[in-house]
Amino acid sequence: MKKDTHLLHAGRTPKSNFGIVNPPVYHASTVTFPTVAAMHEAGKNPTEGIYYGRMGTPTSQAFEEAVAALEGADKAIAVQSGLAAITGAIMAFVKAGDHILVTDSVYFPTKKFCDEFLKNFGVEVTYYDPMIGAAITDLMQDNTKIVFTEAPGSLTFEVQDIPAIAKAAHSRGAIVMIDNTWAAGYYFNAFEHGCDVSIQAATKYIGGHSDIMMGTIALREEHYKQVKSKLYTLGYCASPDDCYLGQRGLRSLPARLARHQENGMKMAAWLKERPEVTKVLHPAFEDCPGHEFWKRDFTGASGLFSIVLDGKYSAQAVAAMLDGMELFPMGYSWGGYESLIIPFNPKGARQVTEWVEDGPCLRIHAGQENIDDLIEDLNNGFERLNKA
Ligand SMILES: *Cc1c(COP(=O)(O)O)cnc(C)c1O
Repeated sequence: MKKDTHLLHAGRTPKSNFGIVNPPVYHASTVTFPTVAAMHEAGKNPTEGIYYGRMGTPTSQAFEEAVAALEGADKAIAVQSGLAAITGAIMAFVKAGDHILVTDSVYFPTKKFCDEFLKNFGVEVTYYDPMIGAAITDLMQDNTKIVFTEAPGSLTFEVQDIPAIAKAAHSRGAIVMIDNTWAAGYYFNAFEHGCDVSIQAATKYIGGHSDIMMGTIALREEHYKQVKSKLYTLGYCASPDDCYLGQRGLRSLPARLARHQENGMKMAAWLKERPEVTKVLHPAFEDCPGHEFWKRDFTGASGLFSIVLDGKYSAQAVAAMLDGMELFPMGYSWGGYESLIIPFNPKGARQVTEWVEDGPCLRIHAGQENIDDLIEDLNNGFERLNKA
Protein backbone atom coordinates (compact mmCIF):
# COMPACT_ATOMS: atom_id res chain seq x y z
CA MET A 1 0.00 0.00 0.00
CA LYS A 2 1.10 3.56 -0.63
CA LYS A 3 1.59 5.72 2.43
CA ASP A 4 -1.63 7.73 1.99
CA THR A 5 -3.68 4.54 1.84
CA HIS A 6 -1.86 2.91 4.74
CA LEU A 7 -2.40 6.04 6.84
CA LEU A 8 -6.18 5.75 6.40
CA HIS A 9 -6.25 2.15 7.63
CA ALA A 10 -3.47 1.81 10.21
CA GLY A 11 -4.60 1.31 13.80
CA ARG A 12 -8.25 0.47 13.17
CA THR A 13 -10.13 -2.79 12.71
CA PRO A 14 -13.83 -2.15 12.03
CA LYS A 15 -14.51 -5.90 11.78
CA SER A 16 -13.68 -6.40 15.45
CA ASN A 17 -15.61 -3.28 16.44
CA PHE A 18 -19.19 -3.91 15.21
CA GLY A 19 -18.23 -2.56 11.78
CA ILE A 20 -17.77 0.90 13.28
CA VAL A 21 -15.16 2.83 11.31
CA ASN A 22 -13.20 4.42 14.17
CA PRO A 23 -11.86 2.64 17.26
CA PRO A 24 -13.54 3.42 20.58
CA VAL A 25 -12.04 5.60 23.29
CA TYR A 26 -11.01 3.58 26.35
CA HIS A 27 -10.74 5.65 29.51
CA ALA A 28 -8.70 3.64 31.97
CA SER A 29 -6.48 3.76 34.99
CA THR A 30 -7.02 0.33 36.57
CA VAL A 31 -6.73 -2.82 34.50
CA THR A 32 -7.92 -5.86 36.44
CA PHE A 33 -6.45 -9.37 36.30
CA PRO A 34 -8.52 -12.50 36.97
CA THR A 35 -5.82 -14.45 38.85
CA VAL A 36 -2.52 -13.94 40.64
CA ALA A 37 -0.86 -15.94 37.87
CA ALA A 38 -2.30 -13.66 35.17
CA MET A 39 -1.16 -10.58 37.12
CA HIS A 40 2.39 -11.93 37.37
CA GLU A 41 2.40 -12.94 33.73
CA ALA A 42 1.33 -9.42 32.63
CA GLY A 43 4.04 -7.92 34.85
CA LYS A 44 6.76 -9.79 32.98
CA ASN A 45 6.22 -7.87 29.78
CA PRO A 46 4.13 -4.79 30.65
CA THR A 47 5.17 -2.73 27.62
CA GLU A 48 3.55 -5.26 25.29
CA GLY A 49 0.08 -5.57 26.73
CA ILE A 50 -2.69 -3.70 28.50
CA TYR A 51 -1.28 -3.42 32.01
CA TYR A 52 -2.09 -0.09 33.64
CA GLY A 53 -3.59 3.13 32.24
CA ARG A 54 -0.29 5.00 32.23
CA MET A 55 1.29 2.23 30.16
CA GLY A 56 -1.34 2.66 27.44
CA THR A 57 -4.79 1.59 26.34
CA PRO A 58 -6.18 0.13 23.12
CA THR A 59 -6.88 3.79 22.20
CA SER A 60 -3.31 5.00 22.60
CA GLN A 61 -2.00 1.85 20.92
CA ALA A 62 -4.27 2.39 17.91
CA PHE A 63 -2.99 5.95 17.57
CA GLU A 64 0.62 4.83 17.99
CA GLU A 65 0.20 2.20 15.30
CA ALA A 66 -1.05 4.87 12.88
CA VAL A 67 1.83 7.23 13.78
CA ALA A 68 4.34 4.44 13.15
CA ALA A 69 2.74 3.95 9.71
CA LEU A 70 3.01 7.68 9.02
CA GLU A 71 6.67 7.88 9.99
CA GLY A 72 7.72 4.56 8.42
CA ALA A 73 8.83 3.43 11.89
CA ASP A 74 8.48 0.08 13.65
CA LYS A 75 6.85 1.65 16.69
CA ALA A 76 5.59 4.94 18.10
CA ILE A 77 4.89 6.21 21.61
CA ALA A 78 2.39 8.97 22.44
CA VAL A 79 3.06 11.37 25.32
CA GLN A 80 1.40 14.45 26.77
CA SER A 81 3.08 17.19 24.68
CA GLY A 82 5.66 17.74 21.99
CA LEU A 83 8.15 18.99 24.55
CA ALA A 84 7.55 15.88 26.68
CA ALA A 85 8.37 13.76 23.61
CA ILE A 86 11.68 15.62 23.29
CA THR A 87 12.66 15.52 26.97
CA GLY A 88 11.49 11.93 27.42
CA ALA A 89 13.28 10.62 24.34
CA ILE A 90 16.53 12.31 25.34
CA MET A 91 16.34 11.12 28.97
CA ALA A 92 15.69 7.56 27.83
CA PHE A 93 19.12 7.47 26.16
CA VAL A 94 21.50 9.37 28.48
CA LYS A 95 23.06 9.07 31.93
CA ALA A 96 25.47 11.28 33.90
CA GLY A 97 28.82 11.49 32.15
CA ASP A 98 27.34 11.31 28.64
CA HIS A 99 27.51 14.04 26.01
CA ILE A 100 24.93 15.15 23.47
CA LEU A 101 25.08 17.44 20.45
CA VAL A 102 22.13 19.76 19.81
CA THR A 103 21.54 22.03 16.82
CA ASP A 104 21.69 25.75 17.57
CA SER A 105 18.45 26.20 15.58
CA VAL A 106 16.49 23.86 17.86
CA TYR A 107 13.05 24.70 19.29
CA PHE A 108 14.02 27.02 22.13
CA PRO A 109 12.39 25.09 25.02
CA THR A 110 14.57 22.10 24.01
CA LYS A 111 17.58 24.30 24.83
CA LYS A 112 16.03 25.32 28.12
CA PHE A 113 15.62 21.64 29.00
CA CYS A 114 19.29 20.99 28.14
CA ASP A 115 20.53 23.99 30.12
CA GLU A 116 18.21 23.77 33.15
CA PHE A 117 18.05 19.99 33.56
CA LEU A 118 20.51 17.91 31.55
CA LYS A 119 23.56 19.96 32.48
CA ASN A 120 22.60 19.80 36.18
CA PHE A 121 22.24 16.04 35.91
CA GLY A 122 25.81 15.69 34.63
CA VAL A 123 25.07 15.40 30.92
CA GLU A 124 27.34 17.55 28.79
CA VAL A 125 25.59 19.50 25.99
CA THR A 126 27.30 21.07 22.97
CA TYR A 127 25.32 23.22 20.54
CA TYR A 128 26.39 23.11 16.91
CA ASP A 129 25.83 25.12 13.74
CA PRO A 130 22.77 23.68 11.96
CA MET A 131 24.64 23.87 8.63
CA ILE A 132 27.58 21.85 9.95
CA GLY A 133 26.91 18.72 7.85
CA ALA A 134 29.64 16.06 7.86
CA ALA A 135 31.96 18.32 9.88
CA ILE A 136 29.95 17.35 12.95
CA THR A 137 32.47 14.54 13.18
CA ASP A 138 34.91 17.07 14.70
CA LEU A 139 32.53 17.62 17.64
CA MET A 140 31.93 13.94 18.35
CA GLN A 141 33.40 12.58 21.57
CA ASP A 142 33.74 9.04 22.86
CA ASN A 143 30.84 9.73 25.24
CA THR A 144 28.54 11.33 22.63
CA LYS A 145 25.25 9.43 22.83
CA ILE A 146 22.81 11.58 20.85
CA VAL A 147 23.00 13.98 17.94
CA PHE A 148 19.79 15.98 18.15
CA THR A 149 18.66 17.56 14.87
CA GLU A 150 15.68 19.60 13.77
CA ALA A 151 14.97 20.25 10.10
CA PRO A 152 14.10 22.89 9.27
CA GLY A 153 15.08 24.80 12.42
CA SER A 154 12.50 26.55 14.57
CA LEU A 155 11.82 30.17 13.49
CA THR A 156 14.88 30.42 11.22
CA PHE A 157 14.30 27.36 8.96
CA GLU A 158 17.85 26.13 8.27
CA VAL A 159 17.47 22.73 6.59
CA GLN A 160 20.10 20.34 7.93
CA ASP A 161 22.05 17.77 5.90
CA ILE A 162 20.60 14.88 7.90
CA PRO A 163 22.21 11.98 5.95
CA ALA A 164 25.71 13.49 6.37
CA ILE A 165 25.13 14.10 10.08
CA ALA A 166 23.70 10.60 10.56
CA LYS A 167 26.68 8.98 8.85
CA ALA A 168 29.13 10.82 11.11
CA ALA A 169 27.07 10.06 14.24
CA HIS A 170 26.67 6.36 13.50
CA SER A 171 30.36 5.91 12.78
CA ARG A 172 30.98 6.95 16.41
CA GLY A 173 28.13 4.94 17.88
CA ALA A 174 25.76 7.84 18.60
CA ILE A 175 22.09 7.80 17.72
CA VAL A 176 20.35 10.52 15.71
CA MET A 177 17.11 12.14 16.82
CA ILE A 178 15.11 14.57 14.76
CA ASP A 179 12.36 16.98 15.70
CA ASN A 180 10.28 16.25 12.60
CA THR A 181 7.32 18.48 13.47
CA TRP A 182 7.57 20.84 10.48
CA ALA A 183 7.32 18.06 7.90
CA ALA A 184 4.70 16.29 10.09
CA GLY A 185 6.51 12.99 9.52
CA TYR A 186 4.91 13.09 6.07
CA TYR A 187 7.13 15.26 3.87
CA PHE A 188 10.34 13.87 5.40
CA ASN A 189 11.02 10.20 6.02
CA ALA A 190 13.40 10.39 8.97
CA PHE A 191 14.29 6.70 9.01
CA GLU A 192 15.21 6.53 5.32
CA HIS A 193 17.61 9.43 5.92
CA GLY A 194 19.48 7.87 8.82
CA CYS A 195 17.54 9.00 11.90
CA ASP A 196 16.91 6.53 14.72
CA VAL A 197 14.21 8.47 16.55
CA SER A 198 11.68 10.88 14.99
CA ILE A 199 9.84 13.19 17.34
CA GLN A 200 6.81 15.34 16.65
CA ALA A 201 4.70 17.84 18.47
CA ALA A 202 1.44 16.11 17.49
CA THR A 203 -0.06 19.29 18.91
CA LYS A 204 0.69 20.79 15.47
CA TYR A 205 -0.26 19.11 12.18
CA ILE A 206 -1.29 15.68 13.48
CA GLY A 207 -3.91 17.26 15.73
CA GLY A 208 -4.49 19.85 13.06
CA HIS A 209 -7.23 21.80 14.84
CA SER A 210 -5.42 23.71 17.62
CA ASP A 211 -7.24 21.76 20.30
CA ILE A 212 -4.90 19.10 21.69
CA MET A 213 -1.49 18.87 23.36
CA MET A 214 0.39 15.71 22.45
CA GLY A 215 3.79 14.44 21.34
CA THR A 216 4.94 11.35 19.48
CA ILE A 217 8.20 9.43 19.47
CA ALA A 218 8.64 7.13 16.46
CA LEU A 219 11.46 4.63 16.71
CA ARG A 220 12.90 1.25 15.79
CA GLU A 221 11.80 -1.98 17.44
CA GLU A 222 15.23 -2.36 19.08
CA HIS A 223 14.79 0.85 21.08
CA TYR A 224 11.10 0.54 21.86
CA LYS A 225 11.07 -1.41 25.12
CA GLN A 226 13.83 0.68 26.71
CA VAL A 227 12.21 4.01 25.81
CA LYS A 228 8.65 2.92 26.63
CA SER A 229 9.53 1.61 30.08
CA LYS A 230 11.57 4.70 30.93
CA LEU A 231 8.72 6.99 29.89
CA TYR A 232 6.40 4.91 32.08
CA THR A 233 8.74 5.48 35.01
CA LEU A 234 8.91 9.21 34.28
CA GLY A 235 5.11 9.26 34.41
CA TYR A 236 4.61 10.27 30.80
CA CYS A 237 1.40 9.32 29.01
CA ALA A 238 -1.13 10.79 26.58
CA SER A 239 -4.82 11.26 27.35
CA PRO A 240 -7.28 8.88 25.64
CA ASP A 241 -9.38 11.69 24.18
CA ASP A 242 -6.31 13.38 22.71
CA CYS A 243 -5.20 10.06 21.21
CA TYR A 244 -8.61 9.74 19.60
CA LEU A 245 -8.45 13.28 18.19
CA GLY A 246 -4.86 12.75 17.08
CA GLN A 247 -5.86 9.64 15.24
CA ARG A 248 -8.78 11.41 13.61
CA GLY A 249 -6.39 14.20 12.59
CA LEU A 250 -4.01 11.69 10.99
CA ARG A 251 -6.66 10.47 8.54
CA SER A 252 -6.90 13.88 6.91
CA LEU A 253 -3.23 14.86 7.32
CA PRO A 254 -2.15 14.44 3.67
CA ALA A 255 -5.13 16.42 2.38
CA ARG A 256 -4.67 19.20 4.91
CA LEU A 257 -0.93 19.41 4.35
CA ALA A 258 -1.43 19.74 0.59
CA ARG A 259 -3.54 22.83 1.20
CA HIS A 260 -1.07 24.28 3.72
CA GLN A 261 1.72 23.65 1.23
CA GLU A 262 -0.14 25.32 -1.65
CA ASN A 263 -1.09 28.40 0.37
CA GLY A 264 2.37 28.65 1.95
CA MET A 265 4.13 28.49 -1.41
CA LYS A 266 1.81 31.07 -2.98
CA MET A 267 2.15 33.40 -0.02
CA ALA A 268 5.94 33.05 0.10
CA ALA A 269 6.21 33.71 -3.65
CA TRP A 270 4.08 36.85 -3.28
CA LEU A 271 6.10 38.04 -0.28
CA LYS A 272 9.36 37.45 -2.17
CA GLU A 273 8.34 40.15 -4.67
CA ARG A 274 7.48 42.73 -2.01
CA PRO A 275 9.94 45.59 -1.47
CA GLU A 276 9.36 45.43 2.31
CA VAL A 277 10.74 41.86 2.46
CA THR A 278 14.50 41.20 2.28
CA LYS A 279 14.44 37.42 2.79
CA VAL A 280 11.94 34.59 2.58
CA LEU A 281 13.02 31.79 4.91
CA HIS A 282 10.90 29.02 3.38
CA PRO A 283 12.72 25.73 2.70
CA ALA A 284 11.37 25.64 -0.88
CA PHE A 285 12.97 29.03 -1.66
CA GLU A 286 16.61 29.71 -2.40
CA ASP A 287 16.99 32.35 0.35
CA CYS A 288 16.63 29.56 2.91
CA PRO A 289 19.91 28.03 4.16
CA GLY A 290 19.93 24.34 3.24
CA HIS A 291 17.36 24.77 0.44
CA GLU A 292 19.39 22.20 -1.55
CA PHE A 293 18.90 19.59 1.20
CA TRP A 294 15.17 20.27 1.25
CA LYS A 295 15.09 19.67 -2.52
CA ARG A 296 17.09 16.47 -2.18
CA ASP A 297 15.51 14.92 0.93
CA PHE A 298 11.97 16.28 1.42
CA THR A 299 8.88 15.49 -0.63
CA GLY A 300 7.01 18.69 0.16
CA ALA A 301 6.65 21.73 2.40
CA SER A 302 4.17 22.40 5.16
CA GLY A 303 2.68 25.85 5.78
CA LEU A 304 5.16 27.39 8.22
CA PHE A 305 7.89 29.84 7.18
CA SER A 306 9.47 33.16 8.13
CA ILE A 307 10.32 36.44 6.44
CA VAL A 308 12.86 39.13 7.24
CA LEU A 309 11.68 42.72 6.74
CA ASP A 310 13.84 45.65 5.72
CA GLY A 311 15.91 46.98 8.63
CA LYS A 312 14.33 50.44 8.25
CA TYR A 313 11.04 49.29 9.87
CA SER A 314 10.74 50.00 13.59
CA ALA A 315 9.18 47.65 16.12
CA GLN A 316 6.35 50.18 16.36
CA ALA A 317 5.68 49.98 12.61
CA VAL A 318 5.65 46.17 12.80
CA ALA A 319 3.16 46.39 15.68
CA ALA A 320 0.91 48.66 13.57
CA MET A 321 0.98 46.02 10.84
CA LEU A 322 0.31 43.05 13.12
CA ASP A 323 -2.26 44.64 15.43
CA GLY A 324 -4.55 45.27 12.46
CA MET A 325 -4.39 41.84 10.81
CA GLU A 326 -7.80 40.25 10.32
CA LEU A 327 -6.91 36.70 9.28
CA PHE A 328 -3.54 36.33 11.01
CA PRO A 329 -3.99 36.38 14.78
CA MET A 330 -0.83 36.26 16.87
CA GLY A 331 -0.28 33.14 18.92
CA TYR A 332 2.20 30.39 19.66
CA SER A 333 1.92 26.93 18.24
CA TRP A 334 0.71 26.30 14.68
CA GLY A 335 -0.45 23.42 12.48
CA GLY A 336 -4.17 24.09 12.95
CA TYR A 337 -6.39 24.97 9.98
CA GLU A 338 -5.99 28.70 10.60
CA SER A 339 -3.34 31.23 9.61
CA LEU A 340 -1.14 32.83 12.27
CA ILE A 341 1.65 35.36 12.51
CA ILE A 342 4.22 36.25 15.21
CA PRO A 343 7.13 38.69 15.35
CA PHE A 344 10.41 37.24 16.65
CA ASN A 345 14.06 38.06 17.20
CA PRO A 346 16.50 35.13 16.96
CA LYS A 347 19.40 37.13 18.39
CA GLY A 348 19.09 36.09 22.04
CA ALA A 349 18.43 32.44 21.22
CA ARG A 350 21.80 31.61 19.59
CA GLN A 351 24.68 29.90 21.36
CA VAL A 352 27.28 29.15 18.68
CA THR A 353 26.07 30.87 15.52
CA GLU A 354 25.36 34.52 14.89
CA TRP A 355 22.13 35.89 13.50
CA VAL A 356 23.28 38.55 11.07
CA GLU A 357 20.02 39.93 9.66
CA ASP A 358 19.17 43.32 11.13
CA GLY A 359 15.53 43.59 10.01
CA PRO A 360 12.49 42.54 12.05
CA CYS A 361 11.40 38.92 11.52
CA LEU A 362 7.92 37.49 11.18
CA ARG A 363 6.91 33.83 11.31
CA ILE A 364 3.82 33.00 9.31
CA HIS A 365 1.61 29.93 9.38
CA ALA A 366 -0.29 29.59 6.12
CA GLY A 367 -3.69 28.21 7.03
CA GLN A 368 -6.36 26.79 4.77
CA GLU A 369 -8.26 30.02 4.09
CA ASN A 370 -8.72 31.24 0.51
CA ILE A 371 -5.32 32.50 -0.66
CA ASP A 372 -6.78 35.71 -2.15
CA ASP A 373 -8.15 36.73 1.26
CA LEU A 374 -4.82 35.99 2.95
CA ILE A 375 -2.85 38.03 0.44
CA GLU A 376 -5.28 40.93 0.66
CA ASP A 377 -4.87 40.94 4.44
CA LEU A 378 -1.05 40.92 4.11
CA ASN A 379 -1.24 43.66 1.52
CA ASN A 380 -3.27 45.84 3.90
CA GLY A 381 -0.77 45.01 6.62
CA PHE A 382 2.12 46.32 4.52
CA GLU A 383 0.16 49.55 3.97
CA ARG A 384 -0.05 50.00 7.75
CA LEU A 385 3.65 49.11 8.07
CA ASN A 386 4.67 51.75 5.54
CA LYS A 387 2.32 54.40 6.92
CA ALA A 388 3.70 53.95 10.45
C1 LIG B 1 5.55 23.30 19.22
C2 LIG B 1 6.80 22.57 19.04
C3 LIG B 1 7.26 21.70 20.02
C4 LIG B 1 6.58 21.54 21.35
O1 LIG B 1 5.31 21.00 21.25
P1 LIG B 1 4.25 21.19 22.44
O2 LIG B 1 3.20 20.21 22.11
O3 LIG B 1 3.83 22.61 22.41
O4 LIG B 1 4.97 20.83 23.71
C5 LIG B 1 8.42 21.01 19.77
N1 LIG B 1 9.10 21.18 18.63
C6 LIG B 1 8.69 22.01 17.67
C7 LIG B 1 9.49 22.14 16.41
C8 LIG B 1 7.53 22.73 17.84
O5 LIG B 1 7.15 23.59 16.89
